[in-house]
Amino acid sequence: MKAAILHGPKDFRVEEVSDPTLEPDGVIIRVKACGICGSDLHIYNQGGTEQSRRVLGHEFSGEVAEVGTNVTDVKPGMRVIVGGAGAYAEYVGIPRVMLNRNVFPLPEDMSYEVGATTEPTSVGVNAAKRAEPKEDDIVVVLGAGMIGQGTWQAFKAMGVSRVIVSEMGKKRLEVTRVLGADMVINAAEEDPVERINEITSGEGADIVADCAGSASALQQATEMVRGGGYWQIMRGTYSGSQPRSRD
Ligand SMILES: [Zn+2]
Repeated sequence: MKAAILHGPKDFRVEEVSDPTLEPDGVIIRVKACGICGSDLHIYNQGGTEQSRRVLGHEFSGEVAEVGTNVTDVKPGMRVIVGGAGAYAEYVGIPRVMLNRNVFPLPEDMSYEVGATTEPTSVGVNAAKRAEPKEDDIVVVLGAGMIGQGTWQAFKAMGVSRVIVSEMGKKRLEVTRVLGADMVINAAEEDPVERINEITSGEGADIVADCAGSASALQQATEMVRGGGYWQIMRGTYSGSQPRSRD
């Protein structure tokens, strides 16, 4: 089969590699759509290590191509969302399939592309659940990329009445506004910490979910969460974006 193999910084090559082996308890998935995670992008830019030269891509959907002899609840031809890795390739082998644990049926009316966003969306849903928000909490989500979108929308879906999103990108801000965030802050033009201070009369936000991945957002999160509030870090801060030290 063909797969995209990373040979160095920004050097993906589509190459012929051996097909995944079908295990008795496993399935082979024909990949239909795969997202590009921030972590994939980081590895792509850095070139990765020998170990990360395994096939990347973990946000994907596809069609069941083959099932192992012991598998009864997953059938060939099923459209599925998959929890696994190695999807920048034609096929992915799941050694031990567990329906609704690592392979989920894709609803009829959902495209493969939308299905592939399930994994990153689940990050936000999980985060919002863990924060146990109350309806009248003030929730701030920093960053409106894929993870930030899933996160603020999950807080809204849980009934939080004031979900505020801070972001620097114009397009992302616009999407966030259109999709119904209660307030958006353009962090390129105003200081989100000051703004949150104003809104909360200096109290700070009840919940801050940092989905931005920058040192400045990390700093802002510490400054805008109220005493005893809940602060979530939902991304890696990569080298070169260290936070300033704080006294
Ligand atoms: Zn990811």
